[in-house]
Amino acid sequence: MDRYKKQRTRMVETQIRARSISDAHVLKVMETIPRHLFVDEGLIDQAYSDNPLPIGEKQTISQPYIVALMTQALELKGGERILEIGTGSGYQTAILAKLADRVFSIERVATLATRARKILDRLNCYNVAIRVGDGSYGWKEEAPFDAIITTAAAPRIPQYLVEQLAPGGRLVVPVGSREVQTLYKLARSVENPAEIKKEDLGGCRFVSLIGESGWKE
Ligand code: SAH
Repeated sequence: MDRYKKQRTRMVETQIRARSISDAHVLKVMETIPRHLFVDEGLIDQAYSDNPLPIGEKQTISQPYIVALMTQALELKGGERILEIGTGSGYQTAILAKLADRVFSIERVATLATRARKILDRLNCYNVAIRVGDGSYGWKEEAPFDAIITTAAAPRIPQYLVEQLAPGGRLVVPVGSREVQTLYKLARSVENPAEIKKEDLGGCRFVSLIGESGWKE
């Protein structure tokens, strides 16, 4: 029995499908992942609302629509190896875990990583590996990746991440100032792996990436 099922269905219909997200796998997974488990207990009644929410350590769980938009942009068909920078609550991680083969997620703040791990285990997301550190460098031992997602904003495209993209791989990353950014999708060509195509997915607002490809604290 899941008393939040109705709220979840409404979230997907009114916030996501209504805004032209059409990937059936993304819609289905977002209808099943219990977002309320990833927010603070005091905010549980807002878990399915149309906005980001604080998760402690001055970080936020992203707005459901943004999660859907970024996930759709990764074009997952199943079987992918994914790198995620900014585990945060673990909500985006759980969605990726259900859509792909393996997820490697890096979080700077150890307490958030530990909290996310617990919820992911509870949801049987055993195909997720979490590492604490600066995700700017990517995860070299596990590269290359079919898809890379960064859920913290960078001042420029993080080059180590581009390097760890497999031929045909997609990278979704918010780039701009600390206050406001543009969401970019980069795709490495299959035929000519040196070629990278860049697409603008619109404006967004993320918390800052802190580290080598980001800002200082
Ligand atoms: N997808 C997450 C978003 C969390 S906010 C969610 O929906 O819950 C972004 C996260 O990126 C924060 O938890 C922050 O601590 C983390 N972060 C910031 N800079 C980072 C870096 N250099 N490496 C790894 N994680 C980083």
